[in-house]
Amino acid sequence: MKILISADMEGITGVVASDHVSRDGKDYERARLWMTHEVNAAIRGAFAGGAAEVIVNDSHASMKNILVDELHPDAQLITGSPKPLSMMEGMDETVNAVFFVGYHARKGTAFGVLDHTYSGTDVVRYLVNDVELGETGQNALIAGAFGVPVVLVTGDTRVTVEARELLGNIETVAVKDGISRYAAKTLHPSKAHALIEEAAMKAVQRIGEIKPLTMVGPYSLEIELAQSSMADMAELIPGVERIAARVVRFTHADYITAYKCFRAIIAMS
Ligand SMILES: [Zn+2]
Repeated sequence: MKILISADMEGITGVVASDHVSRDGKDYERARLWMTHEVNAAIRGAFAGGAAEVIVNDSHASMKNILVDELHPDAQLITGSPKPLSMMEGMDETVNAVFFVGYHARKGTAFGVLDHTYSGTDVVRYLVNDVELGETGQNALIAGAFGVPVVLVTGDTRVTVEARELLGNIETVAVKDGISRYAAKTLHPSKAHALIEEAAMKAVQRIGEIKPLTMVGPYSLEIELAQSSMADMAELIPGVERIAARVVRFTHADYITAYKCFRAIIAMS
């Protein structure tokens, strides 16, 4: 049994500000340790539930936040960027289930702590076949393309609601409750870790009952960008059609190809 953990930072216990999540932030060094320890709780739960192998993919910004020497010694870490599948690197058909740890709500979610979708500066809306998705949906569809379910999502209250709406009755842990985009009522890390470990164990035991997220192809992606200058660049890519000053659309038969086209657009922006 092999578990892939995609670990983001905005949804980690206690994290509410750019001081926590930016490499030059005053509290970043402390927050990356919180992130590492919170991922460890999910790893412990995965092994307790019966996993034989756990791969952790660092999925935040530079993707080198997790401190490898503080990570659970029986897990392996994917660190650094760029990576072809970005937040879902490590995903292949040998993975049995995926955890999202430290995730956050999609852009435009009221009281979602540090809400955004893939890029806080570039992306306003991300739609697949006219369904608006945040990173939870965007990445669950990648797992779904391999026939693999997402069985655990942890983060603030809003992302756990988003996850259950989209993925059904999966395991979720809300470690903090957003009061504004930059404020939350948060659990103590020790309490959050206990809840995550327990939920991770249950999630592994429930893999058989949770369905992968899939949509019927072809996959039409519509991306609303923050600036028209970004669409000026995006429409240079063959197959990318500009449908409004800041909105582009493109269609591919498989979701992974469509997702990589999205990545190229963001890289150019
Ligand atoms: Zn994120």
